[in-house]
Amino acid sequence: MSKGQLFIVSGPSGAGKSTICRLVRKMLGINLATSATTRTPRTGEEHGRDYYFLTKEDFLNKIDQGEFLEFATVHGNYYGTLKSEVEARLSKGENVILEIDVQGGLQVKAVYPEANLIFFKTPTKEDLENRLRGRKTDSEETIQLRLKNSLKELEFEKDYDTTIINYTVERSCEELINIIKNKNQEEK
Ligand code: 5GP
Repeated sequence: MSKGQLFIVSGPSGAGKSTICRLVRKMLGINLATSATTRTPRTGEEHGRDYYFLTKEDFLNKIDQGEFLEFATVHGNYYGTLKSEVEARLSKGENVILEIDVQGGLQVKAVYPEANLIFFKTPTKEDLENRLRGRKTDSEETIQLRLKNSLKELEFEKDYDTTIINYTVERSCEELINIIKNKNQEEK
């Protein structure tokens, strides 16, 4: 069995990261590392599956208890990766994919320098705006905030090891799978 590795996927909100990560996890049999957040669940989202939806108080308590591998404020809410979602899996030799923002990605890289940083974006900024609007789950105010933050997020692409441009779901999945397989192969 190959050694488990940590893959961090970041990039502008709405670029399609969640879909690709969900499909790739399923195709490669990688367990989901669920993040915690203080944002309100969207229609159809479930506690424990999509996120651990926490109150701000609970989130701050977990920060105090040192339970987070990383955390950040993204679009006005707290988001964080619990150590419990990552450490045991890596030590069992499992691959872990984290889908987190760039601030979190760089925090994890400081703890796990061997982590693979993958930046994920749409071909153009117009594509991103169309995708955010097409999702129909966010208010105009939220869309504007996410677009503004996306521009900042794009500045961090240079700090990442690889970029995937989301032309099609199939192509992006294939690229991510190849990155994971190649890294696992190198470690054998
Ligand atoms: P959304 O609200 O659309 O689910 O996610 C918004 C942003 O938060 C996305 O860019 C996503 O990558 C980021 N995010 C999700 N979970 C985490 C996490 O655990 N830590 C950090 N730092 N960012 C996260």
